[in-house]
Parts: sequence; structure tokens; C-alpha cells
Amino acid sequence: MSVTVFDAKASVGRKFLVAGRGGLNITHEEPHADFVSKYSGPSPAAPFWNALLSEFDADALRRWAAELGVETFAACTGRVYPREFKSAQLLRRWVHRLRESGVRFAMNHRWAALHPRSPQGMIPLEFEVQGEPVRTEFDAVVFALGGGSWPETGSDGGWVAAFERISVSVAPLCASNCGWETDWPPGLIEAAEGRPLKNVVGSAGNESVAGELMITRYGLEGGIIYKLGAVLRSMAEPEIRVDLKPAHSLEALIRKLGLCRANFLREARSRWRLDEASWALLRTQCGDAGEFASTEAIASAAKACRIRLTRPRPIAEAISSAGGVRWSELEESLMVRRLPGVFVAGEMIDWDAPTGGYLMQGCFATGTRAGTSAVAWMRARTQP
Ligand SMILES: Cc1cc2nc3c(=O)[nH]c(=O)nc-3n(C[C@H](O)[C@H](O)[C@H](O)COP(=O)(O)OP(=O)(O)OC[C@H]3O[C@@H](n4cnc5c(N)ncnc54)[C@H](O)[C@@H]3O)c2cc1C
Repeated sequence: MSVTVFDAKASVGRKFLVAGRGGLNITHEEPHADFVSKYSGPSPAAPFWNALLSEFDADALRRWAAELGVETFAACTGRVYPREFKSAQLLRRWVHRLRESGVRFAMNHRWAALHPRSPQGMIPLEFEVQGEPVRTEFDAVVFALGGGSWPETGSDGGWVAAFERISVSVAPLCASNCGWETDWPPGLIEAAEGRPLKNVVGSAGNESVAGELMITRYGLEGGIIYKLGAVLRSMAEPEIRVDLKPAHSLEALIRKLGLCRANFLREARSRWRLDEASWALLRTQCGDAGEFASTEAIASAAKACRIRLTRPRPIAEAISSAGGVRWSELEESLMVRRLPGVFVAGEMIDWDAPTGGYLMQGCFATGTRAGTSAVAWMRARTQP
């Protein structure tokens, strides 16, 4: 059996390399049920991911890295990284092992179309190579063309139109794990741009996430807003509520203000030990009056600062994208129902997960399922 890896770019794994810039968080160490609960999107939900992640779980991914001579470790957050943090060594050894085992790499081949099966049952693929169409055919094909974020790495979502041309339904790609925009009231940016809101809790709908938010010129970035992305996208009028003092109850905050009857903002800043960003944000909550009316009013605002969000940042900036080939188009094996022998894997399928290693793990697990299914499918075809 021979295998060829095609890529539109001059080299493979460009997003894998980009992902390693800030430390390649390859997977996560936590109980299986918690791990599975991180995957969202339309059905098939939990049972499918449960089976998929049992087949190729975080330990399997760490063993795979270890076989390539790359040791991994779990940080106290549960995030798992290669010892050297970066992806270059892992990618280099991975490609080397594939080459050694006979895999051919054909770079600068942009897949453009899938033609009807040949009379011999082969699958003809059309690539664009230096502006010219090139046709080649295979017994089975695994597409892993990525989502739509960071198009400069090669995953530009151009495949969506080509899939739709062959009547495979695709949920529109949209930005995930990304910042959101808001119209900040006057003064906020001058006071707090680039400052973090640390140890806060952000909520949207019924979901709450503890962590950090970063105030930017256009809105908010940070782990909290990334994790709330799916809920925010489902809201007609997306809004996040930020609890600036999650360790203190409303009553405790009121108590700390004592007999204060005026200058609530100034008093709260010192008595609650508010940092610059929290104070600036709290100040936006009292409206045109420029001051709160009571200790109760300022404490309530601190427990739920409301920020109306206008839109997610553009998909090109996002860490990942949601949307992709709809599950209804796929069999359990990840074969496209209407295209026997054609499989899909990775971010190009309609699922979503937060940062924390879940994206890579999801790609590796779907990749493993699609790859093993393709081999099984070919064997079944060639056996008498
Ligand atoms: C800045 C950043 C940091 C990240 N950090 C992490 C992290 O720490 N942990 C984590 O779990 N995830 C992280 N991710 C997400 C992770 O990198 C992706 O989820 C993952 O790479 C997706 O893998 P994939 O194989 O589905 O697609 P990709 O890695 O995007 O690969 C798709 C490949 O398909 C090729 N291609 C596309 N269209 C065509 C075509 N028509 N013809 C031929 N080839 C084509 C592309 O050139 C590309 O090489 C990060 C992403 C970004 C942008």
C-alpha cells in the first residue's frame, strides 16, 4: 500500500508550527468524562466523542510523541506540552518517520476537485500545481484540510466550495477561540488597554468560566472569552457578565464598604483592592451619572459587569474555527456517505473545542479514525 501526502503549501504542518510558538499544548490530562465534555457542536455529541477519544486518548497521543523521542509533561493546569515546548522537533521527527516508512510528500499541490469514480473504482483528484491542473487517482482519500483560521498557514477554507460542488453539505466556518469586539465607552481604552482582568469569572447564558480577560482596543481577548465562544455565538445579543470579585459575596463587598455614603468608586478601589483594569471597567457600569448611587449598586455592578459584545474577531485571527463538514454527511468511520473511499479528519469537520490541547487531540483522534478506516475499507475491497 502506498501513501502520498499532498499539501497546497511548500511544506507540511505550518499551523502545527504556529501552534508551538507559545508552547505546543498537545493534549490535556484529566478524567475521561471531563475530557469528552469539552467537545461541542451539533450531533453526534457525547457518545461519538466518548468512543473516538477512547480509541485514541491523551495517553495514546503522549505515547506517539514518546515513540518519536519527544518527551511530554503535564503542567499543574493539566495542559500537556513537549518538554521543549515547541513543535519543530516533533514535526521534523514525524515527517522523517513517515518518509522512512515510504510515505511520499507532494508539496505545492492545491486540491481543487474530486471527479466521479473511474470504471476501475479509483478516485480521481484534481490538483492545481503552479497554476496548471494535475490529475491523479487513488483507491482511498483522507481529506484533512483544516478550518479557516490563520489562512497564511494554508488552511484557508477554500475546500468548502469544492465540497459543496460535489454536494457535501458544510456548516459555514466561523471564528472560534477568538476575541470579541465591543464598543467601549469613552475613557476605558485610555485607562485599561492591554491590561488583564485577573482572577475574574465571566458568564454568558448559563455558563461561567474562571480565569483571565485582556482588555484590548477592540474588545476582549483571553481564556474566558474563548471558552464562552460557543454560547456567545448562539445569543441574539451576545453579552458577557464579569464578576470582578468572585471570592467575595455581594454581602461581603457591601460590608467592606462600611458606612460609605459617597465616592463609592474611590472607596471601592481601595477597600476592595481593585486593580487598574477592574476599576476602569467598574466605572463604565455607572452610566452618565459618573458615580454609583449606593454601596448595594456598586457591589452588584462589581459582581456582574455587563459588556455587550458586537461580533467575534475575524476568522483569520482566530485560534480555530467551528463549522465544517456536517456529521450527517459522515459514517461512524468518518467516510463521506455519498463518496465511498473518501474520509475526512480534523478541524474540517463540524466540531468545536476550547484551547487547552483539546483541538490537537480532536484532530489526532479523528485523523486516527479516518486513517484506520481508510485502510480497512481498502483491504475489504481488495479481499476476494
Ligand atoms: C496561533 C495558534 C495556536 C494554536 N495552539 C494550539 C495549541 O496549543 N493546542 C491545540 O490543541 N491546538 C492549537 N491550535 C489549533 C491547532 O493548530 C489546529 O486545531 C490544528 O492544527 C488543526 O489541524 P488540521 O489537521 O485539522 O488542519 P491544519 O493543521 O490547519 O492543516 C491543514 C493542512 O491542509 C492544507 N490545505 C488546506 N487546503 C488545501 C487544499 N485545497 N489543497 C491542499 N492542501 C490544503 C494546509 O496547507 C494545511 O497544511 C492553535 C492554532 C493557532 C492558529
